[in-house]
Amino acid sequence: MDLSFEEFQRRADGLRARIAAACATAGRAPDEVELLAVTKTHPVIAAEYAARYGLKGVGENRVQEGVEKRAQTTVALRWELIGHLQTNKARLAARHFDRVQSVDSEKLLRHLARAAAEAGRTLPVLLQVNAGNDPAKFGVDLADAPRLLEVALAQPALRVDGFMTIAPLGRDDTETAALATQTFANLRELRDSLATQTGRPLRELSMGMTGDLEAAVAAGSTLVRVGTALYGVRPQPPSR
Ligand SMILES: *Cc1c(COP(=O)(O)O)cnc(C)c1O
Repeated sequence: MDLSFEEFQRRADGLRARIAAACATAGRAPDEVELLAVTKTHPVIAAEYAARYGLKGVGENRVQEGVEKRAQTTVALRWELIGHLQTNKARLAARHFDRVQSVDSEKLLRHLARAAAEAGRTLPVLLQVNAGNDPAKFGVDLADAPRLLEVALAQPALRVDGFMTIAPLGRDDTETAALATQTFANLRELRDSLATQTGRPLRELSMGMTGDLEAAVAAGSTLVRVGTALYGVRPQPPSR
């Protein structure tokens, strides 16, 4: 990663301005939306820049990569897992991450709950919902989310903070924007109705990335997960 802290700072300032503008348009206070730096594929200095700038958390999409980076630094940060999690890595994730955003099945949820209990901790989680009905995306279907939430709320070793989603890509920018708006509205509606039903706040709505954070903030996002706009385009994995 060839990026100076000054350049990072300039980009982060730009993002905070984008978030503030989106909040103003939506009649929300800018401090209702947290910026989570997505450091996946980047060296540990990416996380250190985020901490030095004053961000509170970073997102990683692979368990092993996140665990290794975390061990390389002493900066105070919340490390969040935002990528798909297989049950065989649930123990490691439950021990080393401050929150898991990608809980998308009952089986995974039970593995995480057991691992958290064994580790003697309460693990904060978000339920990942495929709110855009995208066959290419992980996440529990909208229709199955109430049941997953019910099971999650019954686990004393888990603390359910809210929900996460990723919007589908359309064939062009116009379609992508429309899908994002719909997806985020779906998740917001789901949250509002489940919060009412369960009497829990389910406050966190993790939605919005570099390309669609304005639509997410308009729909009530509390946490935007941004990689590209902070660190540049990620190297593509080798094609097979
Ligand atoms: C990579 C990733 C992001 C960041 O995406 P950018 O477009 O680079 O901002 C956000 N959320 C998840 C789940 C990701 O995997």
